[in-house]
Amino acid sequence: TSNQESGLCTGDASDYELRQRLGEGTFAEVRLATHVRTGEQLACKLVRKKGTCRKELEHEVAVLQAVGQHKHIVCLRDTFDTEDAWALVLELVSGGEVFDRVVETGHFSERDAAAIVRQVASALMHIHRRGIVHRDLKPENLLLVSGEHDADVKLCDFGLSVFTGEGAPPLRGVVGTIAYMSPEQLRGDEFGSEAAVDLWALGVILHLSSSYLLLVGYHPFDPAGMADDLALSRAILAHKYDGCSSTEWASVSPEARAVVRLLLAPDPRERATVRQLLASPWVGADAASSSAAT
Ligand code: ADP
Ligand code: MG
Repeated sequence: TSNQESGLCTGDASDYELRQRLGEGTFAEVRLATHVRTGEQLACKLVRKKGTCRKELEHEVAVLQAVGQHKHIVCLRDTFDTEDAWALVLELVSGGEVFDRVVETGHFSERDAAAIVRQVASALMHIHRRGIVHRDLKPENLLLVSGEHDADVKLCDFGLSVFTGEGAPPLRGVVGTIAYMSPEQLRGDEFGSEAAVDLWALGVILHLSSSYLLLVGYHPFDPAGMADDLALSRAILAHKYDGCSSTEWASVSPEARAVVRLLLAPDPRERATVRQLLASPWVGADAASSSAAT
């Protein structure tokens, strides 16, 4: 059937028992699900059929299938539909969103920030090699596998992802979150669907989490936290940013600040690539020693 070809609705709703809500995004509600026969706990991403085009979900499934399995990426296990929703059955990631930990814990260190960057970078390496750009990297889409302090991070939500060279991505109303959008994405230019947009977003995330280390967490292009979407996009386009040079940054290592600056290069051709990022000593396996150096 056409269902099988598209990879959407290949499974059966009666195999799963839906439980409490785990999270909510722009398009979906995610609920805990139990596989009836095996008792396995999973996450079920439900997208209302009303107001959603089937093609959009087929695209998300196609991307997830092309991504396959990776230690730092949420894996697709099954798909089904109900009368009013499409459902993607995903591996359960139960430690919550990364930022809740960054903001809540008093123990978040530069070493922890480097570990998050390293894991996300390895996920990006995996997808970029397969010609996939995530395009919606943000703290809400980075999940922790457990409540442990050093829990692994997994990237989720490929709803806005594209295959490079594919042309225009499927339209979904408001696309992405302004706060993590690169200048080229905001301009809508030819680089707007290239891999470098994911590195920009990672730079914004690193800036935010590093500045939380100083207890003054702020967005690189919105230091006062006052900007609306229009003001924010103007600041990003004008690259109005202090380059981590303000006095508050003095206690963050120069290596970490350099990584933020490399990721927030306004020209995508000058921005750090995943390979360069992973080769940097601060991000690499040696992250512990550089944070001790300050
Ligand atoms: P949307 O496309 O609507 O943004 P997401 O795929 O980002 O939907 O899921 C929304 C939220 O649900 C996430 O931010 C996260 O909190 C939670 N979530 C998503 N996938 C999982 C999962 N596999 N395990 C646990 N929680 C998840
Ligand atoms: Mg999301």
